[in-house]
Amino acid sequence: MNIVTRFAPSPTGYIHIGNVRSAIYPYLLARQNHGTMILRIEDTDRARYVEGATELIEDTLEWLGLNWDEGPIVGGDHGPYFQSERQEIYHEWARKLIASGRAYADPTPSEKIEEYRKQCSEQKIPFLYRNFRPTDTPEWQPGLPLRFKAEPKDYDWHDEVMGDMHAGPEVQDDIILIKKDGFPTYNFAHIVDDALMGVTHVMRGVEYLSSTPNYLALYEALNLERPKLVSLPHILAPQGNKKLGKRDGAKSVTEYRDDGVLAEAMLNYLACLGWNDGTEQEIYTKDELIKNFSLDRIQSSGARYDETKLLWLNGQWLRRIFDEQGAEALYARTTDFWPASAASYDDDYKVKVLSIIYDRLKTLSDLRTMTDYFFTDPEIDLDMLINNKFLKKISESSLEDLLKTAIQKLTDLRNWQADDLQAALNELLAETGKKPAELFSLIRISLSFAPFSPALNLTMDVLGRETTLARLNAVARAI
Ligand code: GLU
Repeated sequence: MNIVTRFAPSPTGYIHIGNVRSAIYPYLLARQNHGTMILRIEDTDRARYVEGATELIEDTLEWLGLNWDEGPIVGGDHGPYFQSERQEIYHEWARKLIASGRAYADPTPSEKIEEYRKQCSEQKIPFLYRNFRPTDTPEWQPGLPLRFKAEPKDYDWHDEVMGDMHAGPEVQDDIILIKKDGFPTYNFAHIVDDALMGVTHVMRGVEYLSSTPNYLALYEALNLERPKLVSLPHILAPQGNKKLGKRDGAKSVTEYRDDGVLAEAMLNYLACLGWNDGTEQEIYTKDELIKNFSLDRIQSSGARYDETKLLWLNGQWLRRIFDEQGAEALYARTTDFWPASAASYDDDYKVKVLSIIYDRLKTLSDLRTMTDYFFTDPEIDLDMLINNKFLKKISESSLEDLLKTAIQKLTDLRNWQADDLQAALNELLAETGKKPAELFSLIRISLSFAPFSPALNLTMDVLGRETTLARLNAVARAI
């Protein structure tokens, strides 16, 4: 069987973690089986449509390396791939249902429908439109919604993740197929599209599970083969038992990208949010995900979103790229993340800075906050120096003396190289009798006035003799 999957997002502007995960599993399944992955833009809800949102979806997928075989940009034999351009197709299929007596134009004014709804809520009974189905229905014409005529019955079906399912007639209703504005509802459009596009596996959020009996009824009424149904578990907020929402601090996928999360880490993290291969492995390349993915290891319970884990994985990926592909390869990813002060420095210098700091980065944007002093002299902050936990026991005059001794030693150093610098620091320790934490904190803070810097000898090596000595002298004068 040629496996055909699809990602069918609505262009509503914000692509959250859950949306993107719904693209990853169809992608992995299609690639693993040398099948086809379709991108279909479900833009029939014109009220929620956001200009530019389709481009955002395309960008996000491209960034993550989730290329599609059919859809916008690439085209394909089953287009158009924008639902808004498929109106005629939906109307044609709607007319089939009218012809077979399974759809009717609904003249009921919306106020009336509200009344029915209220009645039911007062009587504390579920609102089912089919109980209020109009008896006299006009011919269908633009401006009138078209409804399905439900013939409720029991349904049994298998969901690849949720297992064997059963639903009684009480959940089936006269759902709207075509809205007043002539656009189809999601409920109707996706059935027609999945069938016409040959989709074999419908993979989507579990929120559609409760509507599935209505979809099964539509497949039957339209005489369409039902695809395999794969409900993906909810992504849960970090706390509590609710679905992850905008308010839970989860950023949109592109915000993470702009903050310097690597595509590899994002893909790795999201793929493992609700799926595992039964091993302890945590770091997966895209190829490993394609190889190891299996539907039967998608978990049925909600998967908790954990940003700390995402950032941890990102750190792992930063190191992996540096270690396996080299400093230049990681540097190529950093273009947008340097502080403004770095603008006038050349690539070689920035590669050196990156090489000594990369293993401390959580995201690439940490470069902005952690490397400024490599490019510009920091402002001298004597309080920071004097109140440092290792230095506060030492008097100011002793600090000054110690700094001067260090300056002398470093001035005399013939080779300004990391190893020689380390040797000089070790000699200084022996000669002054100070603890490493004391001596090194003094020099480190004097050079950076930052809460953190890489190993001291490496920092001095990158800063160079002139800058290092100038900064230490300036601090010695200021104490
Ligand atoms: N357009 C729907 C959404 O964005 C897609 C659901 C599906 O994949 O069928 O939620």
